[in-house]
Amino acid sequence: MNYTLKIWRQKNAADSGSFVSYKVENIDGETSFLEMMDVLNQQLVTRGEEPVAYDHDCREGVCGMCSMYINGRAHGPNELTTTCQLYMRHFKNGSTIIIEPWRAKPFPVIKDLMVDRSAFDRIQQAGAYISMNAGSAPDANNIMISKEAADAAFEAAECIGCGACVAACKNSSASLFVSAKLAQFALLPQGQVERYQRTLNMVQAMDAEGFGSCSNTSACEAECPKGISVKHIAMMNRDYLKATMCSEKVMS
Ligand code: SF4
Repeated sequence: MNYTLKIWRQKNAADSGSFVSYKVENIDGETSFLEMMDVLNQQLVTRGEEPVAYDHDCREGVCGMCSMYINGRAHGPNELTTTCQLYMRHFKNGSTIIIEPWRAKPFPVIKDLMVDRSAFDRIQQAGAYISMNAGSAPDANNIMISKEAADAAFEAAECIGCGACVAACKNSSASLFVSAKLAQFALLPQGQVERYQRTLNMVQAMDAEGFGSCSNTSACEAECPKGISVKHIAMMNRDYLKATMCSEKVMS
C-alpha cells in the first residue's frame, strides 16, 4: 500500500515548524505504524536528509513513550490503542496521513514529533509515593484488601503516562493523568496515609506546570489508550475539596 505522509517538522521549541509531505510505497498492511516511520527514516537517511524524530520504546503499548497525533486524534483512529499498536491495515491505500506532535504548552516540542513530558515526572515527584514503612514483601499479605479495591486500584494504575489525555483536551488539562496516579493510592489501605496531602501536592504541581482546568468534555477518556475513566477526576476533585476545607491533621 502507498501513503502520503504530512509530517510536522520542527527543529526545536523556538522554531515555528511546518508540515512536510513524504511518500511511502509498498507498505504491507501488517506493518506497524512505527515500522512504517522507520521505513520512511531509512529512505531519508539514504537520501542524505534528516530523519524524523519521534519517541518510542517498548513498542508493546506499556511504556507510554509513543506520542503522535494522527489524523486529528491522539494515538490515531483506533480506540484503546497506542501508536505503537497501530497497523497500516487501518489506513486506506492511497490516503494522506497527517502526523503531528502532542500540542500543549506544558509539553514543549524537542524536535519534530518528540515533546518534553518531564512535567509529568515533576507532578509524580510531588506526591506519587507513600513515605510510611511498608515492611518487606511478606508483610504485604498481612493487609487484607478486597478484590473490588484491588481491581479498582489496578485499573487506575494502568495509566502509562503517555499524555494523550492532555493532547486531546481543549484546555490541555492533565486531570485524567493526575487523578489516575492519585487513585491508585487512594483506593488502597496503604494509600490512606498522606492521601489528602498527596492530593494537594500533586494538584498544585499540575497547576504550577501550566496545565489547564478540566474541560468536562471527557475527550481525555475517549482518547486514553488504557481506558482510564473520568470517575477518577471526580474522586480527585472531592479529595481536593476535603483537603482544602480541613486541616491535614483532621483528615489523616
Ligand atoms: S490517563 Fe490515559 S491518556 Fe492520560 S496519560 Fe494515562 S494512559 Fe495516557
